[in-house]
Parts: sequence; structure tokens; C-alpha cells
Amino acid sequence: MMKINLTNRVFGTRDFITIPLACAPLHTLYCGINSLLAALTPSMLILAMARFVDTALLIFQGGTKEEEIYIPLIMIVMIIIYQNINGALSAFSKERLNLSLAENFRVATVEKRARLEYWHIESNESWELINRVCRDPAGRIRRGFENLLEITSIVIQVTSVLAILFAQVWWVGLAVIAISVPAFAVAIKGGKASYEADQEAEKFTRRADYLSSVLMGRENVEERSLFGYTKAIKGKWREKFDAARKIRFRANLKYFVRVKGTGIMIALLSIAIAGILIFPLSSGNLSTGMFIALVTGAFNLVQMMSWGLPWNLKELVSNREYIKDLSAFGALSEQKGALDEPVAEAFRFESLEFHNVSFKYPGTDRYVLKGLSLRFEGGRHYAVVGVNGAGKTTLTKLLTGLYCEYEGEIFLNGKTLRDYSQGELKGIFAVVYQDYARYFISLAENITLGSREGDDRTRMEEILKQIGLEDATRDLPRGMDTSLGKIREGGVDLSGGQWQRLAIARAVYRPSAVYILDEPTAALDPVAESEVYGMFGRISAGRPAIFITHRLGAARLADEIVVIDEGRVAELGSHEDLMGRGGIYAEMFESQRSWYQ
Ligand code: ADP
Repeated sequence: MMKINLTNRVFGTRDFITIPLACAPLHTLYCGINSLLAALTPSMLILAMARFVDTALLIFQGGTKEEEIYIPLIMIVMIIIYQNINGALSAFSKERLNLSLAENFRVATVEKRARLEYWHIESNESWELINRVCRDPAGRIRRGFENLLEITSIVIQVTSVLAILFAQVWWVGLAVIAISVPAFAVAIKGGKASYEADQEAEKFTRRADYLSSVLMGRENVEERSLFGYTKAIKGKWREKFDAARKIRFRANLKYFVRVKGTGIMIALLSIAIAGILIFPLSSGNLSTGMFIALVTGAFNLVQMMSWGLPWNLKELVSNREYIKDLSAFGALSEQKGALDEPVAEAFRFESLEFHNVSFKYPGTDRYVLKGLSLRFEGGRHYAVVGVNGAGKTTLTKLLTGLYCEYEGEIFLNGKTLRDYSQGELKGIFAVVYQDYARYFISLAENITLGSREGDDRTRMEEILKQIGLEDATRDLPRGMDTSLGKIREGGVDLSGGQWQRLAIARAVYRPSAVYILDEPTAALDPVAESEVYGMFGRISAGRPAIFITHRLGAARLADEIVVIDEGRVAELGSHEDLMGRGGIYAEMFESQRSWYQ
């Protein structure tokens, strides 16, 4: 199986064929050949039927032997058998194709998504593009492929039936062509409008989806009942959902009216054609069999021209928009080494220095960091404090290489951070974020996730003990192998504080050089937060650690406190130094004093 590369490739409609070909060549070829053959059956059926009726009539008039009827009869039966078998076989092939696409193409989109530079995930615009492309990518390609097959098949069917029509009575053929041209134009316009409407509706759908997960998700059960916000959110959800529905409905309605309008016109015309065909029939230019076959053929033709073809053309246009999105998705910039595993090599941390670093988020004008200079030394514990929005988390995003477009330099052990690979940075820093993840897998897996340490139970137990989770885990029905969360039978949910500690245990289990705690304790009360930080401080004693917090109770535990304000280092020193100075820190501390008493 070929590996599909999405990066910086300009995709075109042909890729609805090349991608399936690359993923499952045999099944793709089979589907292709099959649909070409199937496309020829309607005209063959017309010819067979004409011959059948004419022969039958001739037999009644005594003009020929009865055996003559067998040939057209066998032809008709064979065509019908072929149509049936063909349907079943190609359904099977399409299913296989779908699986291969899911295995290959979908994985390619998932990998591309994982390689993206981090800011694409945080930017609204690219996030929408990413969502559009990554929602059922295999299905989109398969439908695009089927759509092309359908169109080719319809074109073949139409041309062959038209050819028979032309051969019999040429001007009827001409009339059919003249009518179908406006139907195409309508179809193409409708297709574009429908995709655009989908895109517009997607924005509302995404918000509605989020709200619905808040309403129905298990995580929010407690808060929902506590704050009783269900009604308010439901109202909001309904608003978004309705907006999306209305946009889609309007576009579809317009399309439907347009297409059906032309369809009715064409249907009337086909009745007229049948009427007109009576003339060559009565003058003897058209045999009775051919007349019946052509009238049936003309009705089918009308059905295809007025519904099948416009629908498929509309789909084609919409698929082309998907292909454009796919090219744009492929062109999104990637983080070098984003998929690299953390490098396991032991790293001796000596120093980390921000040298005059300024940074604004891509697509914004406001500097979040403004010429920040700061030095962290090995083996010490630092607390980075400041009000919400001061830029503390931004510091960690730069450190871990999520954003590289900053001014100034960051030096790690004297070497610029830009010279470290993603894999190295992942190995060096272990960060526990504010919105740490809760993985609904076993307790042991929760700890070993993303680590190369393997399943070292003794070490796990030691860490759980240090982090204060020992008691809670002792009671679990299957010990370390108990599934966490409520999604599985026998799963046990942890309390918020326990999940938090578990997230920290996961970080500590990895032998990283520097630990960073970015307020993973924000949901705890200030005293409990201090406790967790204290515990963490003891675990990482002798190793460098950075605590980020806007609550100062935990900061006191650090060897050195860095106060960030307005994107700069405003104050630096021990708790006593900073209290003595009577600046921002002292003021913050006084205002928070009551929290800790
Ligand atoms: P802190 O961690 O100190 O609370 P942050 O570093 O999270 O602060 O945020 C600093 C500032 O940067 C805030 O004003 C925030 O609104 C802004 N910011 C954070 N992330 C983004 C982003 N992805 N795009 C634009 N602005 C952002």
C-alpha cells in the first residue's frame, strides 16, 4: 500500500481517482471497469427489447419461427442477471475501498494534523479548515470517486441512448440535447452554493456540538445540576443549531426548486417526444419494438438528465471545494519533528535563559511578551507568578517549542532553543498544563502514557505514594489495572483533585530534566493547591522545576520567585526579598493573605 503525502501538494479532481488507486488499486480498478460495463447495459437493453418485441410481433404475424424469440429473450435475461450480480460485487469492492481509504488516507490526515504548527490549532480560521478536511476524509474521497464514476457512467449511458435515438430519428436526439444544457448550468451553480452554505453552517454546527457536549457529557453532570445552567445552554445550543439548519435548508430548498423546475420541464418534453415518435412509427420508419424501447429509454434519459446528472454535478462541484480545502490543509505549515518521540538521552540541565524575548501570537498585533529577560539555573525551584493574562503560560509555550516565531533568543545550556529538535525538547521538559487531560484508560496506562519507561510498577507505586494517591488507589477493584472514568463497565471515576495528582504523576514518571507545573491546580482551593505544590516540590527536590501560578501560597515554596507583569519580569527574588520590597508581589500577597488563614 502506498503512503499518501498531503504536504504541499496541489490536489485536483483527478485525485479522487489517484488516491483510491494508491490505497486499493485492485478494488478501484474493479469499480471503474464495472461501472463502465454497467453503463452500457441500458442501451443494450433497449436494443434487446426492440428486437424482442419486433420478433414477437413477427411471430404472431407468422413471418418467422418461434425459436427466433430465444436470442433476444436470453439477451434480456443475461443483462438483468448481470445488473444484479454487478450491484452486489461492486458494493463489496466499495466497502473494501472504504476500509483501505480509512487505513491509509485518513491516517495521513491525522498525521498531518498532528504535525501542524501549534498556532493553527489555536487560530479559528485554520481550525475550521482542519475540521472540514478531517471530518470523515475517507468517506469524502470515496464519495468523490463514486461521483466521478457516476458521472462517467451517466455520460456513457446518455450518449449511447442518444446515439440510438439519432440513428433512428435524428431530430428527436437534437431536441433532447437542447433541453439538457440549462439543467447542467443550474446543477453547477447549485453545487457551489451548497458547499458554501455547508461551510457557513459548519461554524454554527461546531459551536452547537460543543454546547451539546456540555449538556450531555458525563464530565459536567455535577456542575450542570449545581449551577442549573442546562436551560440557558439549551437555549444557546438551539440558537446555533437552528442557525446551521436554516442555512443548509435555504441552500437545499433553492437547489431543489431550481432542479425540480427544470426536471418538470424535461418530463413534459419527454412526453412530447413519445408523442412525436408516433409519426415515424405510423409511417413505417420506426419499428414497433424500437418505438417501445425508445420511449422507455427516453424516460430513463430524462430521469438521468434531470436528476442523476445535475445531482452528481452538484456533488462534483462540492467535492472540488473539498479538494481545494485539502490542498490548503496540506499547505498549512508544519512543526519540524512534531511527531518525534521524546529523546530519551539523559540531559543535564544547567541553565535556561530568556534574552530580550518579545512575542505576539500569530495573526495578532499585541505583544504578549515585551523584551523579557530571565535566567533559570539548574537544581533550583522557581515560581513564576503574575495576574491572569500576564503571559506566564505563553512562556511555557515558547519553551516547549510550540511557537518559534519570537524575537530575541532563548538559550538552553547556552545553546539557542532553535537548535534543539522537537524530540529533544519533549524529552527535556515535562509540563502539566492547566487543562491536563483525563484519559479513560487504566490507572497504570494513565501514568505510562507517552513515556518510554515501560510498566515499572514499583516506581509507579512510589510516585503514587509521594503524590498522595496511595490511599485512593489501594481501594481500586483491579488495582493499577482498573479502568478510570465512567465510560467502561467496572470503570471508576476519580475526584478532580485525584485526576490532578494523576496528571502530575504522569509527568514525574517520565525522566525529564525540567518539570513545569502550569497551574494544573487551578480548580483546587488555595490551601490544597499549596499542598500539591509542596508535595511536588519534595518529589522534584534537587531537580529543576518551574511552578506557574497566580496564587502566591505555592510560590513561597520556591527558591526564587519571578513576577511577570505586562510581558516583562517585574520583580525577582525570594519571598522575603520581594515582601521587603513592597512592590507588586507584596501587594498581591497581602490581598491573598486571607486565602491561607
Ligand atoms: P497567563 O498564563 O499569565 O494567565 P497567558 O500566557 O495564557 O497568560 O496569556 C497572555 C496573553 O496572551 C493573554 O492576554 C491572552 O489573551 C493572550 N493569548 C493567549 N493565547 C493566545 C492565542 N492563541 N492567540 C492570541 N492571544 C493569546
